[in-house]
Amino acid sequence: MQIKILVADDSAPDRLIIQNMLSDYHILTACDGVETMRMLEEHDDINMLILDLKMPNMDGFEVLEALKGNERFRKLRTIVLTNYDELENEIKGLKLGAVDFIRKPIHMDSLRVRIEVHAALLRAQEALERQLAEQKLSFDRVFEEAPIGITISRGGDEEHPEGVLLRGNPAYEQITGRTTEELRRLGWPKITHPDDLKGDLEQLSRLYAGEIKSYSMEKRYIKPDGSIVWVHIVCAALSPTDDNTVNYISFIQDISDRKKKIENELRYIYEHDGWTGLYNRNYLEALLSADAKLKKGLKRALIGIDLSTVQLLVANYGFQYTQNLIKRVAQALARYCTESRILFQPRENRFVFYIVDYKDKDELIAFSNTIADTLMSVLVTERIGGGIGIVEIEQGGDEADIDMLLRRLMIASERSLSLFERGFRTCFYDDQLEALVNRERDVVEALNAIAEHDYSRDDLFLQYQPIIDLKTGSILSFEALARLRTGKLGLVPPMEFIPIAEKTKLIIPIGERVIVKALQFLNRLKELGRDDVNVSINISAIQLLNPGCADRLLELIRKMQVAPKNIGIEITESVFAADFEHINSILQELRDAGISVAIDDFGSGYSSLAREKELKVDCIKIAKQFIDRLLVTERNRAITGDIISMSHRLGHRVVAEGVEHDVQLKYLKDHNCDMVQGYLISVPLDEDDAIRFLERRR
Ligand code: C2E
Ligand code: MG
Ligand code: MG
Repeated sequence: MQIKILVADDSAPDRLIIQNMLSDYHILTACDGVETMRMLEEHDDINMLILDLKMPNMDGFEVLEALKGNERFRKLRTIVLTNYDELENEIKGLKLGAVDFIRKPIHMDSLRVRIEVHAALLRAQEALERQLAEQKLSFDRVFEEAPIGITISRGGDEEHPEGVLLRGNPAYEQITGRTTEELRRLGWPKITHPDDLKGDLEQLSRLYAGEIKSYSMEKRYIKPDGSIVWVHIVCAALSPTDDNTVNYISFIQDISDRKKKIENELRYIYEHDGWTGLYNRNYLEALLSADAKLKKGLKRALIGIDLSTVQLLVANYGFQYTQNLIKRVAQALARYCTESRILFQPRENRFVFYIVDYKDKDELIAFSNTIADTLMSVLVTERIGGGIGIVEIEQGGDEADIDMLLRRLMIASERSLSLFERGFRTCFYDDQLEALVNRERDVVEALNAIAEHDYSRDDLFLQYQPIIDLKTGSILSFEALARLRTGKLGLVPPMEFIPIAEKTKLIIPIGERVIVKALQFLNRLKELGRDDVNVSINISAIQLLNPGCADRLLELIRKMQVAPKNIGIEITESVFAADFEHINSILQELRDAGISVAIDDFGSGYSSLAREKELKVDCIKIAKQFIDRLLVTERNRAITGDIISMSHRLGHRVVAEGVEHDVQLKYLKDHNCDMVQGYLISVPLDEDDAIRFLERRR
């Protein structure tokens, strides 16, 4: 502490002596009372005044008088300079507020020592004041001004087990919205959210028990208006008092804003797709159920876009590429968002527009056409399409059943996807579609059960339709025709379940079961001594193209000890649309093993006669439509005869399928057809009936 001393004396030599003597201090001087007063006014940090009592203009007494009433100079230590013979003046000076006196002529050492004592006193006083101020700062200031709630509570008693609030600061009052008085009366448990109370009290009792020194938690207070404020509270025990009471101090921070921010963030994550930022399924569901009540009377619809085809690109282009593609699609679609057309991304490769207050179906169709055009332009290089499904939300129907709405939307968009492979078509959801899809699902379920289990039940069974030699009338073979019958579905025709089996690839295990059953039938014929009769089995392209198909067939034949010459397979021409060379090589392998191969439904499909000679087959089965035509076309204009003769020239035998009438039979006989099959001979028969039929024809 630098001590500043004002020396007031009209004697210049005295001033000089004092100044020199006290050179360690900061010295100011004044030559009379008036100047003294001015100096004191100007410098408010003067600690000590050495005041000559006898001065012109305004003497020392007058100065003392002036200082006495002035609060500003309360701390100023004044030492009066008197003469040896003026004892009265000394007393008068002391009475007027001086703290000490020095007699003239000035004795230097005595002056120094006196000043040092006063300086030491001043320093001590200052230190004391600072200490006091610091104490006050830590206690009152901090308590009053901290931007955090602070409470000090006395340890609990019978009446208030949670403790009694001794002091609460303004921040605490502000956080809780209550005065300290009120808080003291209520006790904090009353204003704590019930869900948080138990945890808080438990911790507090551990604190009382001395198990822990402090604890912290997030909890909620209820404000007088019922609103909730989230706080982070740290509660610490103070050292026990004499009566062993544990008092505690709590720091309470308002974290409502932070909570709100986190909640908003969580909510955003909950409602949006992480990759594209579009609203997700959660939000769609929430909005739909809210609107079911709020938007009654408005026409509402969902347009679903199925882009699961993008999945096919992953293998070639990688995940990143397809992810970016989805983002581009999202951006392109987002351009059509309006207040009444909101875009969602409920699944990775699916988008939904939720349309509110539209005019009619035409508006929906026009909008989905726009979407389709946009998607086509985004996906032009990838050359993939997708499906668009539309569900109009029935008013007063099951509009609140969101799961059902979304399922319908999926059905409609998937349906348009599976029907048309490239481009985007639109399919409206209706009851017929639902029934169709449900039935398809049931069929898949039934096929799955057959494929999965070691199958002993006869949901899948074969019927056999005889094929006879036109010249001799004897039965040359049976065509094995698959049948599906379940309790739920009844009898399902192969025209229905075979395409489903193909689509789901279930045809591979199902086809194998058919083969096994057909070979068992052949063995039964052999036991009956009829190894002159063959069985032909229908094989679909998917089966044939499945690697190892031929090997598996030959393996089964070997295992079941069937003669390959008794086996024929029937494949439709459509297989040649796939990979002609490859298919032909598989067929050749089978033929080399002794199996005969027939082209089924010849003439109804792709290659027809143009490629017939390239086919590695033994037999042609003329499609029923060419046989049907024999009934309506003039005999000599029917081309059926030409097909027969051409096939013969290529070395193929010919079967006519679907022969129902004698006229047809006669025509076929006349045109040298080799074999016939059809209701005229027999409908497809169960195994036992087929055997009986065979016995009868002998
Ligand atoms: P498909 O191989 O051309 O079999 C001949 C179909 O014509 C059979 O129908 C048969 O019942 C029917 N049919 C035979 N004669 C007549 C007739 O005189 N009039 C009429 N209206 N129809 C006649 P089905 O049994 O309904 O089989 C339909 C198709 O399902 C078969 O045509 C075949 O392509 C396929 N299929 C049947 N079983 C299997 C199988 O095990 N595997 C594969 N991949 N396809 C099979
Ligand atoms: Mg067939
Ligand atoms: Mg056929």
